Amino acid sequence: MAILKVRVAGLAPPEGLDIRDLCSKLNRIQEFYQFDYLGSSGSVPEPDLPNNRHSFRQLARTFYKLYPRPEEHAYDVLLTQKRLEEDYFSKPQDKLGLISSSDTELILKQTRRSIDRYFGFLIMDVLGWIQFDAEHDKDEEDVGCLFDGCYESRSTIVDALRECIICNSCLDYLKEQNIPDEQLVAITRVLRWVRRPPMSSYFKWTLSISLLAIGCISILSGLYPEVGTVTLAASGWVAAVANQSWPLLERE
Ligand SMILES: [Zn+2]
Repeated sequence: MAILKVRVAGLAPPEGLDIRDLCSKLNRIQEFYQFDYLGSSGSVPEPDLPNNRHSFRQLARTFYKLYPRPEEHAYDVLLTQKRLEEDYFSKPQDKLGLISSSDTELILKQTRRSIDRYFGFLIMDVLGWIQFDAEHDKDEEDVGCLFDGCYESRSTIVDALRECIICNSCLDYLKEQNIPDEQLVAITRVLRWVRRPPMSSYFKWTLSISLLAIGCISILSGLYPEVGTVTLAASGWVAAVANQSWPLLERE
């Protein structure tokens, strides 16, 4: 049975992100947190900070106007594509965590992470930050840890999304804070999901290698040289096609 209940909502969320689906996925992957989808709203007030940025206060106020705080949930998470103050990816305050996907197209491309994995990763980051004040020590070098959360340089998140780890010093810190083992297992499971290549990648390479094998056998045996030439060409084509071109297989 889930121990920690979290409300998740969208405020001008990125197009193509199915938050309800993300919540069910996260609930399937682990058992410690229960993510409940509240809904999404497209009506966001005009940016109240320079350079198109929204302050935490403004978005929090908008969120709680739409979804007043209930008693039974421990935390709230709000997902948006709007730009947050100081260009934060995520920012926690009290019991609310804000996560933004603003200007992350290049980061997602470089790390080959889908938008739902990006948010799954930062939901774990922001909840750990709220609950345990977990933040990778600013004086220590960023190591691709989940809690490199301050991300002084925005590009640091690329390493974090690729590595998807909790470093030893953050792990020691969380244990000092008496984090339950079940919660650590849950976080690790989500990180493993974020890191795992999408199904489309497995499908693509299996298909390409199978076609390559058929092509080689057909040509070398001398029985079906034409078939061999076609399948070899098809194998190369499948290998060259981007993973995103198999959208149906992106769903897990
Ligand atoms: Zn760390």
